Amino acid sequence: MYKYQRCTRCVMDNKSDRTITFDNKGYCNYCSDVIKRMPTSYFPNEEGKKLLDATIKQIKSECREDKFDCLVGVSGGIDSSYILYLGYQYNLRMLAVHIDDGLDNPVAVENIKKLINKTNTHLITLKPDHEEYADLLKALFKASVPNLAIVQDNLIVKAIDQYGKDNNIKYSLDGNNIAHESILEHGDGNVNFCDKKHILAIHKKFGEMPIKKTEFITLSDRYLKRSFLSSLKHIRPLNYISYNLEESIKKLNEFCGFEYYGGKHYESILTRFLQCYYLPEKYGADKRKSHYSSLIVSGQMTRDEALRKLEEPLYLSQDLLDSDKKFLADYMGVSLEQLDAWINLPPKKQSDYPHSLLNEMSPIARKFRKIIE
Ligand SMILES: [Zn+2]
Repeated sequence: MYKYQRCTRCVMDNKSDRTITFDNKGYCNYCSDVIKRMPTSYFPNEEGKKLLDATIKQIKSECREDKFDCLVGVSGGIDSSYILYLGYQYNLRMLAVHIDDGLDNPVAVENIKKLINKTNTHLITLKPDHEEYADLLKALFKASVPNLAIVQDNLIVKAIDQYGKDNNIKYSLDGNNIAHESILEHGDGNVNFCDKKHILAIHKKFGEMPIKKTEFITLSDRYLKRSFLSSLKHIRPLNYISYNLEESIKKLNEFCGFEYYGGKHYESILTRFLQCYYLPEKYGADKRKSHYSSLIVSGQMTRDEALRKLEEPLYLSQDLLDSDKKFLADYMGVSLEQLDAWINLPPKKQSDYPHSLLNEMSPIARKFRKIIE
């Protein structure tokens, strides 16, 4: 029988994730796993600085004949913005890639402009075909799956890999980090966002037009080819500095007038709507629990503070929710009534739809990759 339980160290619970497990102290598998991993993956100290300095030196030396030292995928979010800031401090010649899917928070558009100007970085903005992108999004709503951002996530990884390959760039600086996002609730029936087969299977069932122009990354590209065949090396610099959320917002603001969005992934109207309304309403899932738990584990937030913040409303105001919904309905060319009807469909899992067998293998591939690295 289901009994509510919350971790006694972080704020993860079994309300939205029934796969969570607790030990006899009441600690959950999420924070326990991270704490085990941390000594070998997060270096917010002198050792980290030495490792990062050496890596940057290596990048500069290897790329001295090239036009660019590295690629940076830029979403406008705090992590990729801080990567640009850090790359600038190290005097790296960066090529920034941004996917403009038309769903950016206007504040993010301004933030990207400010950062690009201040760091004097070359920016490439890719615009996915609007008709196809909107049709893919509609298909996800109709399929009633939790991950409405799966296409968005897939395309940026594809763009980075493709750009690296086409321009012979040797390094990519990635914003993924232990300090702010070590804990990510995976829930039940999750499918990896790199699963092209899964995205196209959902679209085949619910889409209204053929997908001809949008290119996706596949799971084998992401986990097998990238590890063994790709010449693009991925570096995660934020794991080699003391990456504090409040301090980084302050530094970015002082540096170029960067404005914070008030929450992780609110740089896109789609992900803000997803995290603040769709997931909590439909699945009882509150992504802030993962984010705050990550901050608790990295020593940037107390558990009491996280519990207090979880009591705050998800959307800042009803007006903002209404305007986001209207924006998304217009984006897809449907009425608000239609959008509401999709939101109210019985919830499904991602894994209710066809997906690649490699999903089962990806944890093994990840382990293998770590050994190779
Ligand atoms: Zn925990």
